[in-house]
Amino acid sequence: MTRAPTSRIYKKHETERMRIHPHKVDFAHGYPASADMFYHCLNCDDFVPSLPGESIGCQCRNVFIDTEAGRLSIKNDCRVLLVELHDNG
Ligand SMILES: [Zn+2]
Repeated sequence: MTRAPTSRIYKKHETERMRIHPHKVDFAHGYPASADMFYHCLNCDDFVPSLPGESIGCQCRNVFIDTEAGRLSIKNDCRVLLVELHDNG
């Protein structure tokens, strides 16, 4: 079992062979970011890496990470889950 690379967005169908570990997080305390975490947007089902190599956002722009400004913005965090993706091969 290997961790999925975290440099790009995964689409829902790409995660079907992966195991998804949700992390229970209170977003009121901020948005965590680490190399193995993704933000799963429940509006458009994109999985956005929390530490991308360059600025990136989900399809509906509910989640947007601006690497130049060092800012992670989420419009509606009730529609977002923080998850870890494990690739089963
Ligand atoms: Zn979205």
